Amino acid sequence: ADETDHTLSRLASIGQISAGIAHEVKNPLTSVKGFLQLLQEETKHSYLDLASSELDRAISILQNLLQVSKPDLDDESYNSINLCLELESIIYLFQDQLYRVRVEKKFADTDLVVYGKKNQLKKAFFNLLKNAFEAIPGEGTIYIEHKQVGNSILLTIRDTGVGIPEDKIPMLGTPFFSTKDEGTGMGLTQVFSTIYQHGAKIDVKSVEGGGTTFMVEFPMITKDNIELRDLPLHYEEGQT
Ligand code: ADP
Ligand code: MG
Repeated sequence: ADETDHTLSRLASIGQISAGIAHEVKNPLTSVKGFLQLLQEETKHSYLDLASSELDRAISILQNLLQVSKPDLDDESYNSINLCLELESIIYLFQDQLYRVRVEKKFADTDLVVYGKKNQLKKAFFNLLKNAFEAIPGEGTIYIEHKQVGNSILLTIRDTGVGIPEDKIPMLGTPFFSTKDEGTGMGLTQVFSTIYQHGAKIDVKSVEGGGTTFMVEFPMITKDNIELRDLPLHYEEGQT
């Protein structure tokens, strides 16, 4: 129940962040405006590039925010998802980092299937992995493990990165909470919201300077509980 309260307060806080959005989105848009003014004076490609990347950032913040605050608006349906396959495809996106970060996979022998929204789940795995890579300043390792434990599928992502100070752990998932210069603070908000919508649980353990572990627990889809296909469980009962 603690965890649910935790998630609920996260979701509730989403309703209070209009000021945050205005602030966060205003900055990149203001720089775009400035760059465009410079463009009028002297046409240089780098200004165009900067303007375009600032616009991308603003758009991505808004997209994340919309997905998190109005998850029912996306038209994605629930499907059986082969976790292993999707994880492989996400890891592949970080190929350019593998020269410095080793990725160690320990996947269950059998195909583990979860029931969910594929794109949202992939985005959540991507956000978790991206954080793991970003937490490792030089060389390090990311361990990705999935296995069946009882009636659950347990997915663990552990990194040997900088870790999270204990007093910052309660902040995780709060929209716009970021310790990075270029961070949006929307990654874990998307992760927490997606995990919650899927009737899954997430837990984090971290030691400052000693790395971070995120654990996600999905309910197993079996012949007996296939009625779980009617997920999302409690989410639609008025918690937006
Ligand atoms: P962003 O990555 O844009 O900062 P996130 O919501 O993805 O936003 O993460 C919020 C913050 O949580 C990060 O800025 C970082 O301080 C912390 N964090 C998340 N994952 C990790 C990790 N694996 N290791 C260390 N810190 C992390
Ligand atoms: Mg992130």
